[in-house]
Amino acid sequence: MKDINKKRTGTLISIQDSLVKARFFDDVIMGETAEISVDGKFLQAEVLQIQPDPKNADAGIVEMQVFEDLTGAKIGDEVVFKGTPLSVLLGPGLLTSVWDGLQNPLYKLSEEDSYLKPGMNAPALNEETLWDFTPSVKVGDSVSGGDVIGSVPEGKVDHKILVPFSFGACTVESIIEKSSVNITQQVAIVVDELGNKHELKLAFRQPVKAPIPFKERAIPTKPISTGTRVIDLLAPVGYGGTVGNPGPFGAGKTVLQHSLCKYAVADIIIMAACGERAGEAVEVFKEFAELEDPTTGESLMNRMCIFGNTSSMPVAAREASVFIALTVGEYYRYQGKKVVMLADSTSRWAQALRERSGRQGDIPGPEAFPMDIPDQIKGMYQRAGDDLGTEGSLTFIGTVSPAGGNFQEPVTQATMDATGGFWGLSQDRADAKKYPAIDPLVYTTSVYNGFVSWKDRQNMISALRTANDIDQTISTIGLKKVPVSNYIQFQKGQTIDFCVMQQDAFDKVDACTRPERLEVINEAVQNLISSNIDFEAGEMDDEQLKESIKQKFDELRQWWRDWNYSATTEEQLAQLPGAVNKFILQEEYAV
Ligand code: ADP
Ligand code: MG
Repeated sequence: MKDINKKRTGTLISIQDSLVKARFFDDVIMGETAEISVDGKFLQAEVLQIQPDPKNADAGIVEMQVFEDLTGAKIGDEVVFKGTPLSVLLGPGLLTSVWDGLQNPLYKLSEEDSYLKPGMNAPALNEETLWDFTPSVKVGDSVSGGDVIGSVPEGKVDHKILVPFSFGACTVESIIEKSSVNITQQVAIVVDELGNKHELKLAFRQPVKAPIPFKERAIPTKPISTGTRVIDLLAPVGYGGTVGNPGPFGAGKTVLQHSLCKYAVADIIIMAACGERAGEAVEVFKEFAELEDPTTGESLMNRMCIFGNTSSMPVAAREASVFIALTVGEYYRYQGKKVVMLADSTSRWAQALRERSGRQGDIPGPEAFPMDIPDQIKGMYQRAGDDLGTEGSLTFIGTVSPAGGNFQEPVTQATMDATGGFWGLSQDRADAKKYPAIDPLVYTTSVYNGFVSWKDRQNMISALRTANDIDQTISTIGLKKVPVSNYIQFQKGQTIDFCVMQQDAFDKVDACTRPERLEVINEAVQNLISSNIDFEAGEMDDEQLKESIKQKFDELRQWWRDWNYSATTEEQLAQLPGAVNKFILQEEYAV
């Protein structure tokens, strides 16, 4: 390898959508980034393949994927190879930021212009903001990659300033005193074992395709309070866990992700909006900026950052956006933070891979996805995890949007293999407006110490399953032939489904159920399941009795639904088990 710092260039010889070829005469490195200069703008690209030039023995041909809109690019345009892989700028100011899939700030750009221009390369992090830096090392200390040299408050988050992960053993030669600095200023100088000096700042660039290592990887065990009842009761996700959330169009994937953004108990939430409608993304940015974090009362954005790579932006950038977002997540995990990353939708990400491999002429796998799509998906989810060494965790919840809601397709299947948890959204439930449409009978969970005991959880599932079976019997042989005792079981299951599994994401009170509320609900549910309710027939025939049972359960369900929307105080919360008990005893319970 010659001097990599020397300017190395090439010229475009072919343009095929986001895939371009360039002829070069110097060295080129696999995976390095390049900039294509188009009418004074610089478009970001990544080297995918290097081959000899059949027409010129002194030259080579590189194949590159371009992440930005190539409009205006032409044969002969200059390509400058950068010598560095695709990377993300890490440092204070990440939180509250909204970028496109390449970490170009979206708000910044839209102040002057409502559209994102290709290759504008505005700084990814604000360079003017001053941060109160407090050093935590002194001259002569030994440090290496990932070590903390100080910290700055980033809102409520204690943002640790790290030695870049690529660094080996170094000695601190100088470090500034406690002071206000921006991300372009030097805060320390360290000397490596060869005697080379390196300047450290608050921010550094980190390659995104290789993971930031764990200190001591652990199995996720502690469940996250997501606020969504069906999840926290039946299919909890642990800190550091992974979940695939497939569902057909309109089943409620995005609504669920937004709900997780708002209510999941975590230090940091990273949202990668990938390939979904532009309007949807804009709504998110606007809505979230105004929303309060229910735990701190501050703006929700103070604990968030968003990568918005909408369907109107170049497809190739989707691939980058997920890796970039994951790297930001790993960075905060390394600082000991509980991070939840949401990707909506990983199918759009996989489509980007499919388009690229198609253009590259790779031998296609099932449904034209690259052969190695299962490995790529696994690789992505494996970057999530709990780290005992740092006490941080990165939880990764990705939606999958299979065409026609067919869970047999490759991306859904590979996601099911790769993730610990699986929340399948059902078309039938969505059609019936049973939201969130996670089928309480079709899911898997990766943590078993949820918010209620395993036995209670199994009881609940079995009550739901029994009701489901009886429902099927009713539709096949008719209500008449179903014994009253079975009909009561059916009504119990319906009540649990309607009052507990279903939840209104748009109601201030109902949208979020915390563990203490779950406990009260669980008490009521368990009592209802094990109850032996004596509905007296009196003069009624079988049909009338069933009708009257249905009415009584309808009243309970109505009462319970109202409680879902209104109960907030401890006293109001306690009313639910009492009311259910009175219902069981056939006493008046209305308050
Ligand atoms: P997807 O992302 O799966 O295509 P969306 O998340 O956009 O679907 O949901 C489609 C619609 O379903 C929403 O606009 C909303 O009206 C409704 N919906 C989904 N989940 C809920 C929920 N938990 N509570 C109320 N309405 C919901
Ligand atoms: Mg959606």
